[in-house]
Amino acid sequence: MELPSNKEEDIVIVGGGICGLATALALHRFETTTSIISQHLTIGCLLNSDAISLHGFDNYWCVCAHARKLCCRKGIKSVVLERSDSLHYPGAAIAIYANGWRALDQMGVGTKLRSKAIPLQMKGEFRCLRRRDLIETMAEALPAGTIRFSERVIGVQMDKLTSYSTLHLDDGSTITTKVVIGCDGVNSIVANSLNLNPPKLSHIGTLRCVTNYPDEHNYGDAAIRVMKNRLHLGILPIDKNHVLWFISWPQPPGDSGVIRDPKLLREAALDQMKDFPPEVIELVNNGDPESIIYTRVKYRAPWDLLFPSFREGAITVAGDAMHVMGPFMGQGGASAMEDAVVLARCLAQEMRVGNGSSRQLQTNIGMALDNYVKERRGRILRLSIQTYLRQLLQTPVPLVVKLVVFAISAVLFGKSQNDTQYDCGQL
Ligand SMILES: Cc1cc2nc3c(=O)[nH]c(=O)nc-3n(C[C@H](O)[C@H](O)[C@H](O)COP(=O)(O)OP(=O)(O)OC[C@H]3O[C@@H](n4cnc5c(N)ncnc54)[C@H](O)[C@@H]3O)c2cc1C
Repeated sequence: MELPSNKEEDIVIVGGGICGLATALALHRFETTTSIISQHLTIGCLLNSDAISLHGFDNYWCVCAHARKLCCRKGIKSVVLERSDSLHYPGAAIAIYANGWRALDQMGVGTKLRSKAIPLQMKGEFRCLRRRDLIETMAEALPAGTIRFSERVIGVQMDKLTSYSTLHLDDGSTITTKVVIGCDGVNSIVANSLNLNPPKLSHIGTLRCVTNYPDEHNYGDAAIRVMKNRLHLGILPIDKNHVLWFISWPQPPGDSGVIRDPKLLREAALDQMKDFPPEVIELVNNGDPESIIYTRVKYRAPWDLLFPSFREGAITVAGDAMHVMGPFMGQGGASAMEDAVVLARCLAQEMRVGNGSSRQLQTNIGMALDNYVKERRGRILRLSIQTYLRQLLQTPVPLVVKLVVFAISAVLFGKSQNDTQYDCGQL
C-alpha cells in the first residue's frame, strides 16, 4: 500500500481562479533590484535581447540589458493548488475597469489581453474580456509546473511555534509550507481556518450569457446598463462578434440558486423582460447555451470586513475568499487582481530584509501580510459598502429606506466612477 506523501513548498496559493493565478504571476514578476553593473561592461549579445534567464537558488533570475544598465529581476516562486482537473472559467465574460487593467499591466499581460477585447465608451479604460482569455493568458505567463491540478485542499493546520502550515489534500497527502495564500473563492477553506464569518446569501440572482453574432452586432462600443422594475440589465460588447449580457433581479425566498438547465434559465430571463425592446429580447433568445450561468449573489458584509485580522501566522486570504461582493460595480475580479499586486509587493519587500534565519523570515512574512491587510482593508471596505448599498436598492425595501440609501451613497461616495480609476501601485 502506498503511503500518503508529504511535500514541502515555500509559498502555496490555494485556488487557481483569477486571484490565485494573478497572485502567482505578480510574485513571479516581482522585480527586486536594479543596478548599474559597469560603465564599461561589454554586453554584446545582451543588447539585442530583452532578457536571459539564469536559473538557480529557489528563485529564478532574469537579466535585462538596456545600454549600460543591468537590471535583475528576481521572481518569487509559488505553487498554485487547483481542485479542478484543468483551467476553468465559469461566468463567460468579465468587465474590467481601469483599475483592473493597471493590475494586469503590472503582471505583464495587459497588452496581450487588450488585443482580445474592444475598448468600451466609459471614463477611463473599460473592456469586457472572455474569462477564458483572462485565465489562459495568466496561466501561460507562469513558469511550467506552477499550477497543480486535481489538488483539493480540505484542511489547513498551523504550527504556532514555527508559523509553518500543513495543508491536507483530499487524496490523503499533505504539504508543509511557509506561506499559505487562500484564493479559494467564496466557500474558502482557508478563510474558515482564519475563523472569518461565512459570506451571506443575498436575495438577488444573476444570469450571465454571451451571444455570438457571426455578422457583427449593432452595439458598437456602447456599454449599456438599465435598471427597470428592480431588474438590472447590462450589455457589454466583447469584440465585434460577441456580446456579454447579464441580468439580476430579486429571487423568491425559497430559491435554491441551483438552476442549471440553459433552456429554463433563458425562459426565466425572458419572463422578467417582457416589456424590453425587441433587439434585447433577440439578444437573450440567441444567447449561447454553453455560456449561460445563474448565480445567487453572495457577499461578505461590510461590517465583517472591519475587524478580522485576515492573517494568522503566515496564512492569509485574497480575492473572493477575503471580500466576495455582489457584481453591481463589476469590481470583484479587478479588486482580486489589485490584492495580488499589493500582496506580492508586500511579501517581496519584507522577504529581502533581515539576516536570513528562518525565525527572521517568518517574522518578516508576518509583517508583510499585516502590511498587505492594512493596505487593502480600506479599499475593499469602500467597494463592499457601495455594492451593498446598490444591492439594497434592488431588493424590495420601503421607499424611505431607498431614499436614505441614496443619500448615504451620495454623501460617502459621490462619483463612484473614481473607484474604477484606483491605482494599486507598482510591483
Ligand atoms: C454574476 C457575477 C458577475 C461578475 N462580474 C464581474 C465583473 O464584471 N467584473 C469583475 O471584476 N468581477 C465580477 N465578478 C466577480 C468575480 O467573478 C470574482 O470576484 C472573481 O472571479 C474572484 O476570483 P477568485 O479567484 O477570488 O475566486 P474564484 O474565481 O471563485 O476562484 C477560486 C478558485 O479556487 C478553486 N478552489 C476552491 N476551493 C478549493 C480548494 N479547497 N482546493 C483547491 N482549489 C480550490 C476553485 O476551483 C477556483 O478555481 C462577478 C461575479 C458574479 C457572481
